[in-house]
Amino acid sequence: MLLIDCPFCGPRAETEFRCGGEAHIARPVDPSALDDVAWGDFLYMRSNTKGVLAERWNHVHGCGRWFNALRDTVSDRFLACYRSGEPRPDPVPAEAAR
Ligand SMILES: [Zn+2]
Repeated sequence: MLLIDCPFCGPRAETEFRCGGEAHIARPVDPSALDDVAWGDFLYMRSNTKGVLAERWNHVHGCGRWFNALRDTVSDRFLACYRSGEPRPDPVPAEAAR
């Protein structure tokens, strides 16, 4: 069973969580000023990283709060979990290289 370390509750089973997609995507300051291509890019274009990716996660069957996590998309290992608004931590090099 995969455990995810909720920054508010501690380690819990992955079945309690839902992924909200890539983290640290800045919303445009004035969305009405964007053309359709730029708006589409904001909504749908993501990095599709092979390796360490920062993602938003929701503890939907727990505290209900959102947080960010660094997950290796190759091994499906969580390298760090941190609260929204906190800076992205650097992954441990040995962990990221796996
Ligand atoms: Zn929680």
